[in-house]
Amino acid sequence: MGATLQIKDLSLRYPTQKEFALRPLNLSVADGEILSLIGPSGSGKTSLLHLIAGLSRPTEGCIHINAQCIADTATCLPPELRPIGLVSQGGDLFPHLTVAKNIAYGLTKWPRNKRKKRVAELLEAIELPAYRNRYPAELSGGEAQRVALARSLAPRPEILLLDEPFSSLDRALRERLRALTRTLLKDSGTTAIFVTHHTDDARHMGDRTVSLLEIQIVK
Ligand code: ADP
Ligand code: MG
Repeated sequence: MGATLQIKDLSLRYPTQKEFALRPLNLSVADGEILSLIGPSGSGKTSLLHLIAGLSRPTEGCIHINAQCIADTATCLPPELRPIGLVSQGGDLFPHLTVAKNIAYGLTKWPRNKRKKRVAELLEAIELPAYRNRYPAELSGGEAQRVALARSLAPRPEILLLDEPFSSLDRALRERLRALTRTLLKDSGTTAIFVTHHTDDARHMGDRTVSLLEIQIVK
């Protein structure tokens, strides 16, 4: 299950800055669509994902999920109430938790047997069932990113935001992981925004590619 995402005249100026980090933009992502978002470093890609996830508030404009306003200048639904998952560039696994516990992190309110089943299913999907008791420090970069992906998919978010999740990996691994990720997203019907600065990643991963610089209204 996915959701539709609609962004209207959204802009962001961090209170400490004079310049806008994100000039006003409009963007729609359909239910179940994977949108690739490209743009040079500093163009506001991470800032946009943080606005959608609820980690910052818009300066202007609004964000709708399934036609419900989740953020504008007056409203800001807290991140934990948004049906959204975020995979960041570094993965940011909890170093003191095992792989299985990292994946189970968002499932604390689930009944124990359902939680165990979901973790086992995801370990299988990312092809790491034998790694369940390892700690993040005992994983390669590619393995850690797969665990981060599984952790963010575990609570079945309707929208998954992927912030350059594979950019530190070599080309062969990137190709494998983007194919795996696309399969997982399509199997679950999850709506996604995939941020990358590699145009080949964007093309293979997304149903559509958008350039952040091109959709911002120049003022
Ligand atoms: P990208 O992800 O495309 O590299 P970012 O969204 O990280 O771009 O950054 C966009 C702009 O916003 C940059 O000029 C950056 O310096 C600025 N910026 C990012 N985060 C903050 C913050 N927390 N406070 C102030 N400025 C920020
Ligand atoms: Mg970034």
